[in-house]
Amino acid sequence: MIIPHSSTTEDWDYASAPESLKVSVAEVHKLFIGGKFVKAADGGSFPTVNPATEAPLASIANAGEKDVDRAVRAARKALRGWRRTKPLERGKLLYRIARRIQERSRELAVLETMDGGKPIRESRDVDLPLTAAHFFHHAGWADKLSYVARQSTAPDGIGVCAQVIPWNFPLMMAAWKIAPALACGNTVILKPAETTSLTALRLAEILQEVDCPPGVVNIITGAGDTGRLLVEHSDVDKVAFTGSTSVGKQIARSCAGSKKRLTLELGGKGPHIVFADAPIDQAIEGVVRGIWFNQGHVCCAGSRLLVEESIAQDFIRRIRDRMKMIRVGDPLDKNTDLGAINSLAQLNTIKGLVETGVREGADRFDVKCALPERGFWHLPTLFTRVQPSHSIAREEIFGPVLSVMTFRTPGEAIARANDTPYGLSAGVWTNKASKAYEMAQQLRAGVVWLNCFNEFDPASPFGGVRESGFGREGGMQGLAAYLREEIGGVR
Ligand code: NAP
Ligand code: MG
Repeated sequence: MIIPHSSTTEDWDYASAPESLKVSVAEVHKLFIGGKFVKAADGGSFPTVNPATEAPLASIANAGEKDVDRAVRAARKALRGWRRTKPLERGKLLYRIARRIQERSRELAVLETMDGGKPIRESRDVDLPLTAAHFFHHAGWADKLSYVARQSTAPDGIGVCAQVIPWNFPLMMAAWKIAPALACGNTVILKPAETTSLTALRLAEILQEVDCPPGVVNIITGAGDTGRLLVEHSDVDKVAFTGSTSVGKQIARSCAGSKKRLTLELGGKGPHIVFADAPIDQAIEGVVRGIWFNQGHVCCAGSRLLVEESIAQDFIRRIRDRMKMIRVGDPLDKNTDLGAINSLAQLNTIKGLVETGVREGADRFDVKCALPERGFWHLPTLFTRVQPSHSIAREEIFGPVLSVMTFRTPGEAIARANDTPYGLSAGVWTNKASKAYEMAQQLRAGVVWLNCFNEFDPASPFGGVRESGFGREGGMQGLAAYLREEIGGVR
Protein backbone atom coordinates (compact mmCIF):
# COMPACT_ATOMS: atom_id res chain seq x y z
CA MET A 1 0.00 0.00 0.00
CA ILE A 2 1.72 3.17 -1.12
CA ILE A 3 -1.04 5.74 -0.90
CA PRO A 4 -0.34 8.52 1.55
CA HIS A 5 -2.73 8.97 4.37
CA SER A 6 -4.61 12.21 3.96
CA SER A 7 -6.87 13.74 6.56
CA THR A 8 -9.28 14.74 3.81
CA THR A 9 -9.93 11.16 2.71
CA GLU A 10 -11.27 9.80 5.98
CA ASP A 11 -14.96 10.25 5.34
CA TRP A 12 -14.79 8.57 1.94
CA ASP A 13 -16.08 5.04 2.05
CA TYR A 14 -15.38 3.08 -1.09
CA ALA A 15 -15.29 -0.36 0.46
CA SER A 16 -18.22 -1.56 -1.60
CA ALA A 17 -17.28 0.22 -4.83
CA PRO A 18 -16.62 -2.13 -7.73
CA GLU A 19 -13.26 -1.44 -9.33
CA SER A 20 -14.47 -2.62 -12.69
CA LEU A 21 -16.71 0.31 -13.50
CA LYS A 22 -16.72 0.82 -17.26
CA VAL A 23 -16.35 4.44 -18.29
CA SER A 24 -17.30 5.29 -21.83
CA VAL A 25 -15.06 7.70 -23.68
CA ALA A 26 -16.31 9.61 -26.72
CA GLU A 27 -14.16 9.09 -29.81
CA VAL A 28 -13.74 12.82 -30.40
CA HIS A 29 -13.18 15.53 -27.80
CA LYS A 30 -13.59 19.26 -28.45
CA LEU A 31 -12.32 22.42 -26.80
CA PHE A 32 -14.35 24.09 -24.05
CA ILE A 33 -14.60 27.80 -24.86
CA GLY A 34 -17.22 30.32 -23.74
CA GLY A 35 -19.25 27.58 -22.05
CA LYS A 36 -19.54 25.45 -25.20
CA PHE A 37 -17.67 22.50 -26.70
CA VAL A 38 -16.25 23.65 -30.02
CA LYS A 39 -13.99 22.20 -32.72
CA ALA A 40 -10.49 23.53 -33.24
CA ALA A 41 -10.53 26.25 -35.89
CA ASP A 42 -8.28 24.25 -38.21
CA GLY A 43 -9.86 20.91 -37.27
CA GLY A 44 -6.57 19.65 -35.84
CA SER A 45 -6.46 16.83 -33.32
CA PHE A 46 -4.10 14.42 -31.56
CA PRO A 47 -4.65 10.98 -30.00
CA THR A 48 -4.50 10.04 -26.33
CA VAL A 49 -3.69 6.46 -25.32
CA ASN A 50 -4.02 4.27 -22.27
CA PRO A 51 -0.38 3.88 -21.18
CA ALA A 52 -1.11 0.49 -19.61
CA THR A 53 -2.28 -1.02 -22.89
CA GLU A 54 -1.15 1.46 -25.56
CA ALA A 55 -4.75 1.33 -26.85
CA PRO A 56 -6.00 4.62 -28.29
CA LEU A 57 -8.68 6.15 -26.07
CA ALA A 58 -9.82 9.19 -28.02
CA SER A 59 -8.96 11.96 -30.40
CA ILE A 60 -8.51 15.35 -28.75
CA ALA A 61 -8.85 18.78 -30.38
CA ASN A 62 -5.54 20.56 -30.83
CA ALA A 63 -5.95 24.26 -30.06
CA GLY A 64 -4.01 26.55 -32.40
CA GLU A 65 -3.43 30.30 -32.32
CA LYS A 66 -7.02 31.20 -33.31
CA ASP A 67 -8.48 28.94 -30.63
CA VAL A 68 -6.16 30.30 -27.95
CA ASP A 69 -7.19 33.82 -28.92
CA ARG A 70 -10.87 32.85 -28.85
CA ALA A 71 -10.47 31.35 -25.37
CA VAL A 72 -8.66 34.42 -24.04
CA ARG A 73 -11.35 36.67 -25.50
CA ALA A 74 -14.06 34.53 -23.88
CA ALA A 75 -12.30 34.79 -20.51
CA ARG A 76 -11.90 38.57 -20.92
CA LYS A 77 -15.57 38.97 -21.84
CA ALA A 78 -16.68 36.93 -18.82
CA LEU A 79 -14.43 38.81 -16.41
CA ARG A 80 -16.65 41.85 -15.92
CA GLY A 81 -19.70 39.86 -14.90
CA TRP A 82 -17.74 37.42 -12.77
CA ARG A 83 -16.03 40.25 -10.87
CA ARG A 84 -19.42 41.75 -10.15
CA THR A 85 -20.86 38.43 -9.00
CA LYS A 86 -21.36 38.55 -5.24
CA PRO A 87 -18.55 36.68 -3.45
CA LEU A 88 -21.13 34.47 -1.73
CA GLU A 89 -22.46 33.43 -5.15
CA ARG A 90 -18.94 32.67 -6.36
CA GLY A 91 -18.51 30.48 -3.30
CA LYS A 92 -21.80 28.69 -4.01
CA LEU A 93 -20.62 27.86 -7.53
CA LEU A 94 -17.39 26.39 -6.14
CA TYR A 95 -19.40 24.30 -3.66
CA ARG A 96 -21.55 23.00 -6.52
CA ILE A 97 -18.44 22.03 -8.48
CA ALA A 98 -17.00 20.24 -5.44
CA ARG A 99 -20.23 18.32 -4.82
CA ARG A 100 -20.55 17.28 -8.45
CA ILE A 101 -16.94 16.06 -8.45
CA GLN A 102 -17.80 13.91 -5.44
CA GLU A 103 -20.90 12.58 -7.14
CA ARG A 104 -18.97 11.67 -10.31
CA SER A 105 -15.79 10.69 -8.49
CA ARG A 106 -15.81 7.00 -9.32
CA GLU A 107 -16.12 7.71 -13.03
CA LEU A 108 -13.44 10.42 -12.82
CA ALA A 109 -11.08 8.14 -10.90
CA VAL A 110 -11.40 5.34 -13.46
CA LEU A 111 -10.88 7.79 -16.33
CA GLU A 112 -7.84 9.33 -14.62
CA THR A 113 -6.35 5.86 -14.29
CA MET A 114 -7.17 4.88 -17.88
CA ASP A 115 -5.66 8.02 -19.38
CA GLY A 116 -2.65 8.47 -17.10
CA GLY A 117 -1.68 4.99 -15.82
CA LYS A 118 -1.85 5.61 -12.06
CA PRO A 119 -3.26 2.87 -9.77
CA ILE A 120 -7.01 3.14 -9.29
CA ARG A 121 -6.52 3.05 -5.53
CA GLU A 122 -4.52 6.24 -5.73
CA SER A 123 -6.88 8.07 -8.12
CA ARG A 124 -9.82 6.97 -5.97
CA ASP A 125 -8.39 7.57 -2.50
CA VAL A 126 -6.00 10.47 -3.07
CA ASP A 127 -6.53 12.41 -6.32
CA LEU A 128 -10.32 12.60 -6.28
CA PRO A 129 -10.83 13.43 -2.58
CA LEU A 130 -8.10 16.06 -2.76
CA THR A 131 -9.57 17.51 -5.96
CA ALA A 132 -12.96 17.95 -4.30
CA ALA A 133 -11.32 19.20 -1.09
CA HIS A 134 -9.58 21.96 -3.00
CA PHE A 135 -12.88 23.25 -4.36
CA PHE A 136 -14.56 22.97 -0.94
CA HIS A 137 -11.71 24.84 0.73
CA HIS A 138 -11.78 27.72 -1.75
CA ALA A 139 -15.57 27.85 -1.82
CA GLY A 140 -15.35 28.75 1.87
CA TRP A 141 -12.85 31.53 1.19
CA ALA A 142 -14.79 33.31 -1.58
CA ASP A 143 -16.89 35.54 0.69
CA LYS A 144 -14.30 35.94 3.46
CA LEU A 145 -11.48 37.56 1.53
CA SER A 146 -12.46 41.05 2.71
CA TYR A 147 -11.69 40.01 6.31
CA VAL A 148 -8.12 39.02 5.57
CA ALA A 149 -7.71 42.05 3.33
CA ARG A 150 -9.07 44.17 6.24
CA GLN A 151 -11.40 46.12 4.00
CA SER A 152 -15.15 46.34 3.59
CA THR A 153 -15.24 44.98 0.04
CA ALA A 154 -13.67 41.87 -1.47
CA PRO A 155 -10.16 42.50 -2.85
CA ASP A 156 -9.79 42.44 -6.63
CA GLY A 157 -8.59 39.45 -8.56
CA ILE A 158 -5.83 39.84 -11.11
CA GLY A 159 -7.95 39.27 -14.22
CA VAL A 160 -7.57 36.71 -17.00
CA CYS A 161 -5.42 33.77 -15.89
CA ALA A 162 -3.55 31.41 -18.23
CA GLN A 163 -2.98 28.13 -16.40
CA VAL A 164 -0.84 25.27 -17.71
CA ILE A 165 -0.64 21.94 -15.89
CA PRO A 166 1.34 18.66 -16.13
CA TRP A 167 0.22 15.03 -16.47
CA ASN A 168 1.09 13.53 -13.10
CA PHE A 169 -2.01 14.69 -11.15
CA PRO A 170 -4.25 15.97 -13.95
CA LEU A 171 -7.50 16.64 -12.09
CA MET A 172 -5.83 17.64 -8.85
CA MET A 173 -3.62 20.16 -10.64
CA ALA A 174 -6.68 21.53 -12.46
CA ALA A 175 -8.36 22.03 -9.06
CA TRP A 176 -5.26 23.66 -7.56
CA LYS A 177 -5.34 26.16 -10.41
CA ILE A 178 -9.05 26.81 -11.03
CA ALA A 179 -10.43 26.88 -7.46
CA PRO A 180 -8.35 29.76 -6.01
CA ALA A 181 -8.58 31.74 -9.26
CA LEU A 182 -12.37 31.61 -9.24
CA ALA A 183 -12.68 32.27 -5.52
CA CYS A 184 -10.73 35.49 -6.04
CA GLY A 185 -12.88 36.67 -8.98
CA ASN A 186 -10.59 35.80 -11.89
CA THR A 187 -11.45 34.04 -15.13
CA VAL A 188 -9.39 31.17 -16.47
CA ILE A 189 -8.03 29.41 -19.53
CA LEU A 190 -6.64 26.01 -18.48
CA LYS A 191 -4.34 23.91 -20.67
CA PRO A 192 -3.97 20.27 -19.55
CA ALA A 193 -0.98 18.15 -20.58
CA GLU A 194 -1.01 16.35 -23.91
CA THR A 195 -1.20 12.82 -22.47
CA THR A 196 -3.93 13.50 -19.88
CA SER A 197 -6.65 15.79 -21.20
CA LEU A 198 -9.68 13.58 -20.59
CA THR A 199 -10.51 14.35 -16.96
CA ALA A 200 -10.11 18.10 -17.48
CA LEU A 201 -12.70 17.81 -20.26
CA ARG A 202 -15.06 15.92 -17.91
CA LEU A 203 -14.55 18.78 -15.50
CA ALA A 204 -15.76 21.04 -18.32
CA GLU A 205 -18.96 18.93 -18.44
CA ILE A 206 -19.33 19.45 -14.70
CA LEU A 207 -18.93 23.20 -15.17
CA GLN A 208 -21.82 23.10 -17.63
CA GLU A 209 -23.90 20.97 -15.25
CA VAL A 210 -23.50 23.47 -12.39
CA ASP A 211 -24.23 26.50 -14.62
CA CYS A 212 -20.79 28.05 -14.43
CA PRO A 213 -21.21 31.33 -16.39
CA PRO A 214 -19.86 30.97 -19.96
CA GLY A 215 -16.23 31.98 -20.34
CA VAL A 216 -15.38 31.98 -16.61
CA VAL A 217 -13.45 28.73 -17.16
CA ASN A 218 -12.20 27.72 -20.61
CA ILE A 219 -10.34 24.47 -21.17
CA ILE A 220 -8.18 24.20 -24.25
CA THR A 221 -6.29 21.04 -25.12
CA GLY A 222 -3.22 20.75 -27.28
CA ALA A 223 -0.03 18.90 -28.01
CA GLY A 224 3.06 20.92 -28.61
CA ASP A 225 2.56 24.62 -29.05
CA THR A 226 -0.75 25.36 -27.31
CA GLY A 227 0.77 26.06 -23.89
CA ARG A 228 3.32 28.46 -25.30
CA LEU A 229 0.70 30.31 -27.37
CA LEU A 230 -1.47 30.66 -24.29
CA VAL A 231 1.17 32.01 -21.89
CA GLU A 232 2.50 34.36 -24.58
CA HIS A 233 -0.93 35.82 -25.40
CA SER A 234 -0.81 39.57 -24.88
CA ASP A 235 -4.21 39.85 -23.18
CA VAL A 236 -3.40 37.52 -20.29
CA ASP A 237 -2.94 39.15 -16.85
CA LYS A 238 -1.53 36.20 -14.92
CA VAL A 239 0.32 33.01 -15.82
CA ALA A 240 0.30 30.03 -13.46
CA PHE A 241 2.46 27.14 -14.62
CA THR A 242 3.18 23.73 -13.16
CA GLY A 243 5.67 21.60 -15.03
CA SER A 244 9.33 21.16 -15.74
CA THR A 245 12.01 23.63 -14.74
CA SER A 246 13.21 24.00 -18.34
CA VAL A 247 9.77 25.04 -19.63
CA GLY A 248 9.30 27.20 -16.51
CA LYS A 249 12.45 29.12 -17.40
CA GLN A 250 11.22 29.67 -20.97
CA ILE A 251 7.94 31.02 -19.61
CA ALA A 252 9.73 33.32 -17.14
CA ARG A 253 11.73 34.72 -20.04
CA SER A 254 8.64 35.27 -22.17
CA CYS A 255 6.77 37.03 -19.31
CA ALA A 256 9.71 39.22 -18.34
CA GLY A 257 9.00 42.91 -18.90
CA SER A 258 5.27 42.32 -19.49
CA LYS A 259 2.40 43.27 -17.16
CA LYS A 260 1.80 39.58 -16.45
CA ARG A 261 1.99 38.23 -12.91
CA LEU A 262 3.67 34.82 -12.79
CA THR A 263 3.82 31.81 -10.48
CA LEU A 264 5.89 28.71 -11.28
CA GLU A 265 5.64 25.27 -9.67
CA LEU A 266 8.56 23.32 -11.12
CA GLY A 267 10.65 20.22 -10.60
CA GLY A 268 12.35 18.79 -7.54
CA LYS A 269 14.91 16.31 -6.23
CA GLY A 270 13.61 15.93 -2.70
CA PRO A 271 15.95 14.68 0.04
CA HIS A 272 14.45 12.16 2.45
CA ILE A 273 16.57 12.05 5.62
CA VAL A 274 16.41 9.14 8.07
CA PHE A 275 18.27 9.37 11.41
CA ALA A 276 19.24 6.33 13.44
CA ASP A 277 16.84 7.42 16.20
CA ALA A 278 13.83 7.45 13.83
CA PRO A 279 10.78 5.20 14.24
CA ILE A 280 12.19 2.74 11.70
CA ASP A 281 9.05 0.82 10.68
CA GLN A 282 7.21 4.05 9.91
CA ALA A 283 10.26 5.51 8.17
CA ILE A 284 10.40 2.50 5.82
CA GLU A 285 6.77 3.08 4.84
CA GLY A 286 7.43 6.81 4.49
CA VAL A 287 10.38 6.22 2.16
CA VAL A 288 8.35 3.73 0.07
CA ARG A 289 5.48 6.20 -0.17
CA GLY A 290 7.91 9.04 -0.86
CA ILE A 291 9.27 7.49 -4.05
CA TRP A 292 6.89 4.79 -5.30
CA PHE A 293 3.61 6.68 -4.97
CA ASN A 294 2.26 7.54 -8.46
CA GLN A 295 5.20 5.68 -10.13
CA GLY A 296 7.49 8.40 -8.79
CA HIS A 297 5.85 10.92 -11.13
CA VAL A 298 5.72 13.35 -8.24
CA CYS A 299 7.44 16.73 -8.24
CA CYS A 300 7.95 16.56 -4.47
CA ALA A 301 9.03 12.86 -4.45
CA GLY A 302 11.64 11.87 -1.88
CA SER A 303 13.95 10.68 -4.63
CA ARG A 304 17.23 11.02 -2.67
CA LEU A 305 17.30 8.88 0.45
CA LEU A 306 19.90 10.08 2.98
CA VAL A 307 20.27 7.51 5.73
CA GLU A 308 22.47 7.72 8.82
CA GLU A 309 25.49 5.47 8.28
CA SER A 310 25.10 3.47 11.52
CA ILE A 311 21.74 2.02 10.37
CA ALA A 312 22.25 2.19 6.60
CA GLN A 313 22.97 -1.48 5.93
CA ASP A 314 19.97 -2.75 7.86
CA PHE A 315 17.67 0.02 6.60
CA ILE A 316 18.52 -0.63 2.94
CA ARG A 317 18.03 -4.37 3.42
CA ARG A 318 14.57 -3.68 4.82
CA ILE A 319 13.69 -1.31 1.95
CA ARG A 320 14.72 -4.04 -0.51
CA ASP A 321 12.48 -6.54 1.29
CA ARG A 322 9.63 -4.07 1.22
CA MET A 323 10.16 -3.46 -2.52
CA LYS A 324 9.43 -7.14 -3.15
CA MET A 325 5.89 -6.54 -1.86
CA ILE A 326 5.09 -3.75 -4.32
CA ARG A 327 2.63 -5.02 -6.91
CA VAL A 328 3.30 -3.67 -10.38
CA GLY A 329 0.70 -4.03 -13.12
CA ASP A 330 -2.82 -3.25 -14.31
CA PRO A 331 -3.64 0.18 -12.87
CA LEU A 332 -7.36 -0.69 -12.83
CA ASP A 333 -6.73 -3.59 -10.43
CA LYS A 334 -7.42 -2.27 -6.95
CA ASN A 335 -4.51 -4.27 -5.51
CA THR A 336 -1.95 -2.63 -7.78
CA ASP A 337 0.65 -0.44 -6.07
CA LEU A 338 2.64 0.75 -9.05
CA GLY A 339 0.88 1.41 -12.35
CA ALA A 340 2.05 2.30 -15.85
CA ILE A 341 4.57 5.00 -16.72
CA ASN A 342 2.61 7.89 -18.20
CA SER A 343 4.14 7.87 -21.68
CA LEU A 344 6.79 6.20 -23.81
CA ALA A 345 8.79 9.44 -23.79
CA GLN A 346 8.83 9.49 -19.98
CA LEU A 347 9.74 5.77 -19.87
CA ASN A 348 12.70 6.44 -22.16
CA THR A 349 13.84 9.36 -19.96
CA ILE A 350 13.72 7.11 -16.88
CA LYS A 351 15.55 4.26 -18.62
CA GLY A 352 18.20 6.66 -19.87
CA LEU A 353 18.90 7.99 -16.38
CA VAL A 354 18.96 4.46 -14.91
CA GLU A 355 21.54 3.42 -17.52
CA THR A 356 23.57 6.52 -16.67
CA GLY A 357 23.41 5.56 -12.99
CA VAL A 358 24.89 2.13 -13.75
CA ARG A 359 27.50 3.61 -16.08
CA GLU A 360 28.57 6.16 -13.47
CA GLY A 361 29.21 3.37 -10.97
CA ALA A 362 26.17 3.11 -8.69
CA ASP A 363 24.76 -0.32 -7.71
CA ARG A 364 21.32 -1.02 -9.14
CA PHE A 365 18.70 -3.19 -7.45
CA ASP A 366 15.26 -3.96 -8.76
CA VAL A 367 12.71 -6.60 -8.09
CA LYS A 368 12.13 -8.99 -10.92
CA CYS A 369 8.49 -9.64 -11.71
CA ALA A 370 6.39 -10.34 -14.77
CA LEU A 371 5.10 -7.25 -16.52
CA PRO A 372 2.25 -6.97 -19.03
CA GLU A 373 3.38 -7.41 -22.63
CA ARG A 374 2.03 -4.10 -23.84
CA GLY A 375 2.16 -0.74 -22.13
CA PHE A 376 4.88 1.39 -20.54
CA TRP A 377 6.36 -0.17 -17.41
CA HIS A 378 9.30 0.35 -15.10
CA LEU A 379 10.09 -1.73 -12.05
CA PRO A 380 10.72 -0.09 -8.68
CA THR A 381 14.45 0.55 -8.70
CA LEU A 382 16.97 1.39 -5.99
CA PHE A 383 20.53 2.61 -6.35
CA THR A 384 23.16 2.32 -3.63
CA ARG A 385 26.80 3.50 -3.69
CA VAL A 386 25.51 6.76 -5.12
CA GLN A 387 27.90 9.72 -5.11
CA PRO A 388 26.54 13.29 -4.78
CA SER A 389 28.05 14.03 -8.21
CA HIS A 390 26.18 11.19 -9.97
CA SER A 391 23.46 12.18 -12.44
CA ILE A 392 20.94 10.04 -10.51
CA ALA A 393 21.68 12.14 -7.39
CA ARG A 394 21.27 15.43 -9.23
CA GLU A 395 18.68 15.13 -12.00
CA GLU A 396 14.96 14.74 -11.55
CA ILE A 397 14.15 11.22 -12.81
CA PHE A 398 10.37 11.57 -12.32
CA GLY A 399 10.04 7.80 -12.15
CA PRO A 400 10.14 4.91 -9.62
CA VAL A 401 13.88 5.22 -8.94
CA LEU A 402 15.41 5.88 -5.52
CA SER A 403 19.03 7.00 -5.04
CA VAL A 404 20.52 6.19 -1.63
CA MET A 405 23.37 8.01 0.08
CA THR A 406 24.58 8.04 3.68
CA PHE A 407 25.66 10.64 6.22
CA ARG A 408 27.31 10.69 9.65
CA THR A 409 26.25 13.97 11.26
CA PRO A 410 23.22 16.27 10.97
CA GLY A 411 25.53 18.87 9.40
CA GLU A 412 26.56 16.43 6.71
CA ALA A 413 22.90 15.50 6.10
CA ILE A 414 22.01 19.18 5.61
CA ALA A 415 24.96 19.79 3.30
CA ARG A 416 24.03 16.79 1.12
CA ALA A 417 20.31 17.58 1.17
CA ASN A 418 20.88 21.18 0.07
CA ASP A 419 23.39 20.19 -2.60
CA THR A 420 20.85 20.61 -5.41
CA PRO A 421 19.59 23.47 -7.55
CA TYR A 422 16.02 22.49 -6.59
CA GLY A 423 14.14 23.30 -3.40
CA LEU A 424 10.64 21.86 -3.41
CA SER A 425 10.30 19.22 -0.69
CA ALA A 426 12.25 17.42 2.02
CA GLY A 427 11.47 14.78 4.65
CA VAL A 428 13.05 14.16 8.06
CA TRP A 429 12.61 11.11 10.28
CA THR A 430 13.81 11.37 13.89
CA ASN A 431 12.32 11.00 17.35
CA LYS A 432 14.05 14.17 18.60
CA ALA A 433 11.90 17.28 18.17
CA SER A 434 14.84 19.66 18.59
CA LYS A 435 16.75 17.91 15.81
CA ALA A 436 13.67 17.91 13.58
CA TYR A 437 13.13 21.65 13.97
CA GLU A 438 16.79 22.43 13.48
CA MET A 439 16.74 20.42 10.24
CA ALA A 440 13.54 22.12 9.07
CA GLN A 441 15.19 25.51 9.66
CA GLN A 442 18.21 24.64 7.58
CA LEU A 443 16.72 22.65 4.72
CA ARG A 444 16.24 24.75 1.61
CA ALA A 445 12.83 23.48 0.56
CA GLY A 446 9.34 24.92 0.27
CA VAL A 447 7.82 21.98 2.17
CA VAL A 448 9.45 19.92 4.94
CA TRP A 449 7.61 16.86 6.21
CA LEU A 450 8.52 15.57 9.68
CA ASN A 451 7.97 11.85 10.32
CA CYS A 452 5.62 11.66 7.34
CA PHE A 453 5.84 12.28 3.59
CA ASN A 454 3.58 13.34 0.69
CA GLU A 455 0.87 14.76 2.94
CA PHE A 456 -1.32 17.37 1.26
CA ASP A 457 -4.00 19.67 2.54
CA PRO A 458 -5.60 22.63 0.75
CA ALA A 459 -5.07 24.80 3.84
CA SER A 460 -1.32 24.24 3.69
CA PRO A 461 0.73 26.25 1.17
CA PHE A 462 2.73 24.17 -1.31
CA GLY A 463 5.51 25.40 -3.59
CA GLY A 464 9.23 25.70 -4.08
CA VAL A 465 12.31 27.85 -3.82
CA ARG A 466 15.28 28.21 -6.17
CA GLU A 467 14.86 26.16 -9.39
CA SER A 468 11.64 24.61 -8.05
CA GLY A 469 9.87 27.91 -8.75
CA PHE A 470 8.07 30.61 -6.82
CA GLY A 471 4.56 31.26 -5.58
CA ARG A 472 2.40 28.96 -3.47
CA GLU A 473 -0.73 26.91 -4.01
CA GLY A 474 -3.06 26.33 -1.07
CA GLY A 475 -3.35 28.28 2.14
CA MET A 476 -3.53 32.06 2.29
CA GLN A 477 -0.40 32.32 0.13
CA GLY A 478 -2.24 30.43 -2.61
CA LEU A 479 -5.03 33.03 -2.54
CA ALA A 480 -2.54 35.89 -2.55
CA ALA A 481 -1.26 34.57 -5.89
CA TYR A 482 -4.65 35.41 -7.44
CA LEU A 483 -5.26 38.82 -5.83
CA ARG A 484 -4.03 42.25 -6.83
CA GLU A 485 -3.40 43.47 -3.31
CA GLU A 486 -1.66 41.98 -0.33
CA ILE A 487 -3.73 40.01 2.15
CA GLY A 488 -2.68 39.46 5.74
CA GLY A 489 0.86 40.58 4.91
CA VAL A 490 1.12 37.90 2.21
CA ARG A 491 1.64 38.49 -1.46
P1 NAP B 1 6.41 20.01 -19.06
O1 NAP B 1 6.97 19.33 -20.22
O2 NAP B 1 7.05 21.25 -18.57
O3 NAP B 1 4.88 20.30 -19.41
C1 NAP B 1 3.97 20.88 -18.51
C2 NAP B 1 2.86 21.55 -19.27
O4 NAP B 1 3.40 22.64 -20.02
C3 NAP B 1 2.16 20.66 -20.29
O5 NAP B 1 0.79 21.01 -20.31
C4 NAP B 1 2.84 21.06 -21.59
O6 NAP B 1 2.05 20.82 -22.71
C5 NAP B 1 3.05 22.53 -21.38
N1 NAP B 1 4.13 23.12 -22.15
C6 NAP B 1 5.15 22.51 -22.82
N2 NAP B 1 5.97 23.44 -23.37
C7 NAP B 1 5.45 24.64 -23.07
C8 NAP B 1 5.85 26.00 -23.34
N3 NAP B 1 6.95 26.29 -24.05
N4 NAP B 1 5.10 27.02 -22.85
C9 NAP B 1 4.00 26.75 -22.11
N5 NAP B 1 3.57 25.50 -21.82
C10 NAP B 1 4.30 24.46 -22.29
O7 NAP B 1 6.34 19.08 -17.77
P2 NAP B 1 5.70 17.64 -17.68
O8 NAP B 1 6.66 16.68 -18.25
O9 NAP B 1 4.30 17.65 -18.18
O10 NAP B 1 5.59 17.46 -16.08
C11 NAP B 1 6.62 17.00 -15.33
C12 NAP B 1 7.32 18.13 -14.63
O11 NAP B 1 6.40 18.90 -13.87
C13 NAP B 1 8.33 17.63 -13.63
O12 NAP B 1 9.51 18.37 -13.75
C14 NAP B 1 7.67 17.90 -12.29
O13 NAP B 1 8.55 18.05 -11.23
C15 NAP B 1 6.89 19.11 -12.55
N6 NAP B 1 5.78 19.25 -11.60
C16 NAP B 1 5.86 20.19 -10.62
C17 NAP B 1 4.85 20.32 -9.69
C18 NAP B 1 4.94 21.35 -8.60
O14 NAP B 1 3.94 21.62 -7.96
N7 NAP B 1 6.08 21.96 -8.36
C19 NAP B 1 3.74 19.48 -9.74
C20 NAP B 1 3.68 18.51 -10.74
C21 NAP B 1 4.72 18.41 -11.68
P3 NAP B 1 2.25 19.47 -23.57
O15 NAP B 1 1.84 18.35 -22.69
O16 NAP B 1 1.36 19.67 -24.75
O17 NAP B 1 3.72 19.42 -23.95
MG1 MG C 1 -3.27 9.23 -22.05
